[in-house]
Amino acid sequence: MKVLVLNSGSSSIKYQLFHAANWRVLAAGAVNRIGEPRGEFSGRWRDADGEEQGFALDQTIANHREGLGRIVARLRETQVLAGEGDLTAIGHRVVHGGEAFQRPTLIDGAVMAVIRGMSPLAPLHNPANLAGIEVALNLFPGVPQVAVFDTAFHQTMPPAAYRYALPEELYKAHRVRRYGFHGTSHAYVSRRAAALLGKAPQECNLITLHLGNGASATAVRGGESIDTSMGLTPLEGLVMGTRCGDLDPAIHFYLANNLGMDIQALDDLFNRRSGLLGLCGVNDMREIHRRIGQGDSAAALALEVFCHRLRKYLGAYWVELGRLDALVFTGGIGENDAEVRARTCAGLEGMGILLDEAANQARGQGERRVTRAESPVAVLVIPTNEELEIARQTLEAIERIDSRSGMFPASSTVS
Ligand code: AMP
Repeated sequence: MKVLVLNSGSSSIKYQLFHAANWRVLAAGAVNRIGEPRGEFSGRWRDADGEEQGFALDQTIANHREGLGRIVARLRETQVLAGEGDLTAIGHRVVHGGEAFQRPTLIDGAVMAVIRGMSPLAPLHNPANLAGIEVALNLFPGVPQVAVFDTAFHQTMPPAAYRYALPEELYKAHRVRRYGFHGTSHAYVSRRAAALLGKAPQECNLITLHLGNGASATAVRGGESIDTSMGLTPLEGLVMGTRCGDLDPAIHFYLANNLGMDIQALDDLFNRRSGLLGLCGVNDMREIHRRIGQGDSAAALALEVFCHRLRKYLGAYWVELGRLDALVFTGGIGENDAEVRARTCAGLEGMGILLDEAANQARGQGERRVTRAESPVAVLVIPTNEELEIARQTLEAIERIDSRSGMFPASSTVS
């Protein structure tokens, strides 16, 4: 019982192979810079004695077919994968499922056509995700393959949260609405948070903060997303590494009219030259702290703007939920940056957050609670694990089909 998770980007394929019985990682790695003169292929695996081994190779990788071919050859050489029969399923990360997919879905031609149809909403991601799916279907025609969507977790949002105040026609005919992203991460940490609180997910009200280079906040009621900060695209919401998050839409007209900026230039500005990078010249939060230590006022302001925006969402989602069991931090910043956590929670004692300063500052790797025992609201740090969530959801989707039909159908979807 092994599950292979694939995350295909435009120039990379990341993979993890899990043992489904205990969710142990048997192998993991990535091919990067596909199609470039100097590609690279690196990974690690457990040998027969359970020892971790690793490799890093520079090699030209022409396309996704060759990339996945090398990954599979490696898995066989290192004997973590015996062959097709050794694989229970393959789970694929797919960024945009639109409104069509609310759950992980068994992939067939019709599903691929719908994913392709979503490409205008995620032009950088969906075509790359599909490239990986096509190659994997060719290599493993007998293995069930499941698409796990970044957007699916947020499909439980009510219309009040997902509709923009725009003419209905734009929603009905052109699908302009809020979708939300990072859903696999928010789903994973929500489930882990409930386990840490000793409750069923249905009993928990949570605000989950995924703070990495991309960042989003989600309000989770009873295990379901009821609001999230990203929108039609992953540009809306929080301040991110290079993305601006929320803006007055009239800034577009102002820049176009007064600076002559066209759509391409605005896209580049908001997605790649804004956020922390735009505010202070760097997008790495560790470097921002280093610069603040040297008296850099732009870096100090960048951190303030980042936390200010975060607290606005925290307040909004707390009101939406009405009652909060836990605030969850994850992502590179959320998991590692004690100062961001402390600033986010500062002055919220009256609302039930009693931070444990020492626990918050302690350098830890694993899941932990950083509030005092008597704090009515828990603050939890939970390292995200999107690959594991994809693997679990993949297996659940297969089992759901199995239990419904008593056998595995050649072509059916779970949606
Ligand atoms: P991710 O996209 O989840 O990999 O997160 C990337 C972000 O996490 C970058 O802004 C990093 O600077 C930040 N990060 C990683 N480690 C730390 C750390 N120890 N302290 C503060 N920020 C960190």
